[in-house]
Amino acid sequence: MSTQINASIITIGDELLIGQTIDTNSAWIGQQLNALGIWLKRRVAVGDSKADILQALDQEAAQSDLIIITGGLGPTADDITKPLLCNYFNGQLVENQKVKNHVLQIFRKRNRPIIDANIAQAMLPNVCDVLWNEMGTAPGMWFAKNNKIFIALPGVPFEMKHIMTHEALPKIKERFTTPNVMHKTICTAGIGESFLAASIQDFETSLPANIKLAYLPQLGGVKLRLTGRDVAAATLENYFQTLITQLPHIVYATEDMPIEKAIGKLLLEKKLTVSFAESCTGGGISAAITSITGSSGYCNGGIVSYTNDVKINLLGVPAETLKQFSEVSAQTVTAMANGVRTKLKSTIGLSISGYLEVVKGKESEKGLIWIGIANEQTTKTISAIMPYDRERNCELAIATALNNLRIFISENY
Ligand code: AMP
Ligand code: MG
Repeated sequence: MSTQINASIITIGDELLIGQTIDTNSAWIGQQLNALGIWLKRRVAVGDSKADILQALDQEAAQSDLIIITGGLGPTADDITKPLLCNYFNGQLVENQKVKNHVLQIFRKRNRPIIDANIAQAMLPNVCDVLWNEMGTAPGMWFAKNNKIFIALPGVPFEMKHIMTHEALPKIKERFTTPNVMHKTICTAGIGESFLAASIQDFETSLPANIKLAYLPQLGGVKLRLTGRDVAAATLENYFQTLITQLPHIVYATEDMPIEKAIGKLLLEKKLTVSFAESCTGGGISAAITSITGSSGYCNGGIVSYTNDVKINLLGVPAETLKQFSEVSAQTVTAMANGVRTKLKSTIGLSISGYLEVVKGKESEKGLIWIGIANEQTTKTISAIMPYDRERNCELAIATALNNLRIFISENY
């Protein structure tokens, strides 16, 4: 058994405190540490203030084995982390030739003039290991003091991630004996967290102490993650399979992925094509589906048929249907789905129409959506009530449509 390793994250920058920048770095670093079995004990945010940074360093070093610092490494005067850390670890700033060449090369490539502040990025404390920054000019730094490790990284998220992935994480794995942590994730859609929890209550209580179940709810579905610490792979796999069999119909993937990716795999595997006629979601379903690499292999396209004129002229919805049943009805989405399917020559057409917020004269139908899914043989219509505000209702409508598309494919192919 390995001992528990505790970590702290210190994020530096006034912009984080005043809400100008959202601290996404901590969330990402937290996930990486969690995957290594390192416990993130605290996250602290401080401004670009010497006293506050020093206090945070002392406080976190008192309770954690690993302290990860991001931000404050830029070339501007407000970024004070580097000289401060140099002082804190009793070092001196010396020029690093390799970093200097890299900085010069970056500016040459971009054809930009270079100033002293940029070249100063190559001045680094002589008491740290330099963590190479392929993506930018500010390298990361690795310090060791009193058996604690301090890692300083630039705040720019893609630079921070690159250094963590290629430089810091391998060194962390080498330096610390981390527990053997394994994760297995199931993605579900269509039922809420509490209902799901109730249906697998017995399974959850049957888990041994070294396997934990986590619920990760999102709009339209819940991801379930089993985490095993120092547990045999076969044992974790057994529990994972048991969990899958307890959730028939609602599991759309047995690894972590968005539903649009799972649908893409299904469509490719079954050699089907799909097209969309969207009213209330304004193209959001098409955007989700085409966000996946390779989606041109199964998505023919979509029509945002927001007005009735477009529904009539581009999709061939009969004016009579709209008049008699309204634009949010089973009849209308049936005509839309079949219209887009034939017009865009796809095996499956999916349509959606709804009132995502209060519409004058339709107050009692607030949040009502209708979804139509058609192939050559059959058309399925589904209605649902979206309970939130316009923005969230749109997201939920997209998730609901995608889940019903998944179900339609598995029922019909
Ligand atoms: P710095 O290293 O302080 O020069 O930060 C450069 C830029 O990175 C800032 O202007 C922010 O936009 C961004 N940044 C800094 N810290 C964070 C953070 N914790 N999460 C996300 N972005 C950040
Ligand atoms: Mg800054």
